[in-house]
Amino acid sequence: MNINLMLTFGIVLVTLLVPISALQVGAATLEWSKFWQIRTYLVNYSGIVSMILMSMCITLSVKHWPLERWLGGLDKQYRLHKYLGISAVFSVLFHWMSFLSDDFAMDLGYVAAKDETYPFWKLIDSLGDPAQLIGEFGFYFSAAFVLIAWIKKFKHNVFQLTHKVLPYLYLLLVLHMIMFFDASLWLSFPGAILFIVSGLATVGCLITIFNLNGTKKRYKAQVKDIKPINNGIEVTLKIDAPEFVYQSGQFAFVGFDDKERPHPFSLASPYHNDGNVRLMIKANGDYTNSLMNTLAVGQMAQIEGPYGCFNFQDDAHQHIWFAAGIGIAPFLTAIEMVGKAKVVNLFYSYREEDKTLLAELQQRAKQVGISLHLRNTSVEDRFSSEEVISYVEKITHCSVWFCGPSELGKTLERDFIKANLPARSFHRELFEFR
Ligand SMILES: Cc1cc2nc3c(=O)[nH]c(=O)nc-3n(C[C@H](O)[C@H](O)[C@H](O)COP(=O)(O)OP(=O)(O)OC[C@H]3O[C@@H](n4cnc5c(N)ncnc54)[C@H](O)[C@@H]3O)c2cc1C
Repeated sequence: MNINLMLTFGIVLVTLLVPISALQVGAATLEWSKFWQIRTYLVNYSGIVSMILMSMCITLSVKHWPLERWLGGLDKQYRLHKYLGISAVFSVLFHWMSFLSDDFAMDLGYVAAKDETYPFWKLIDSLGDPAQLIGEFGFYFSAAFVLIAWIKKFKHNVFQLTHKVLPYLYLLLVLHMIMFFDASLWLSFPGAILFIVSGLATVGCLITIFNLNGTKKRYKAQVKDIKPINNGIEVTLKIDAPEFVYQSGQFAFVGFDDKERPHPFSLASPYHNDGNVRLMIKANGDYTNSLMNTLAVGQMAQIEGPYGCFNFQDDAHQHIWFAAGIGIAPFLTAIEMVGKAKVVNLFYSYREEDKTLLAELQQRAKQVGISLHLRNTSVEDRFSSEEVISYVEKITHCSVWFCGPSELGKTLERDFIKANLPARSFHRELFEFR
């Protein structure tokens, strides 16, 4: 199991169980044996924890709020969203198991059937099946949707479809919570937190349901030029909105007036206030492949952004840039802006040689004094970490900016950190959110 997942699972479990001993929840009374006390506590508490985790997960799915600035970029925001979603499923599983624990315990003969006197269980009895059904099916569906998001074998459009349903599912679970939540619990500390986060998440759901997520940053654009590149196209968009201002290395969601939801692409030209923006689009899957034949000059488009904090802004004296394949796109915005101010070594590895792009890189790097290291990995070995690290002048005054395959990035990050690079100085832009 992946270390992040184990950590997530561990945190949920500890969060759920610590209060049993620390706060002595579940102490037996004359009327209520320890089993029933603990069961009631676990059902209530795991329900609260699940709803808090789920609410935070939903809140982080909203691009609308300035959360990404605090979290270091939309990719980090979505990563946290993903782990909160997974944690919520573990926690909901715990909630469901706690709920069913009396059946298991009675079947095993551990406790005798109980005539309900406790108000919480009396309430559940009186609400009957509908409230329980909402919770039960809410759990099945949310677990299935999280699995779909997690298992990359499921196509992106299946993932997107299930994610469209999630806000409605969350609202049903809020209903389940309101039906079961004892009024006095709202006045407790966890109840107050739950009230705030579920309120925020409900607003977040409505923003998503009414398609308002990101609208503040959405602008009309037009395809001005299209050029072929290796296994893709270079597109120039004309954006008629002076408010659309971006930093080097940022990206935007771009739609081409078709049925497809906008896809993220790095802005691959330095910002000029002439409204022109260059994109480098690699044919990576169904949609990007179809764009190769269908996109036409003059076509209307839509751009939403900018997003991201892969913006080369720090006070390091030396920058190591590492790009692989289409991962070169964000660096194309920064060559002049950053290259003149810092000592930059740009490592670019590719499998398909694009002579025009290489000539452009060589010319622009030479002009600003960037050291360019090129490697065609279809005929040569990859850059090794040692080779890249050997160009570092002083590791504590350096930062690394990486955009390329995830595994390569992880290896490079591990080796740089081993060589004493502070972890916060390694920046990775991954071309995937899942
Ligand atoms: C921050 C960021 C910047 C990117 N910049 C570039 C770039 O400059 N040039 C480039 O060629 N590619 C870039 N990509 C990758 C690009 O978005 C995907 O290659 C493209 O969306 C694939 O779509 P598809 O339907 O053709 O392929 P599919 O096979 O359907 O998808 C392949 C993968 O692309 C991702 N993806 C697909 N659709 C979306 C979507 N609507 N929103 C988010 N992710 C999606 C998913 O991870 C999916 O698993 C970037 C991705 C991110 C996250």
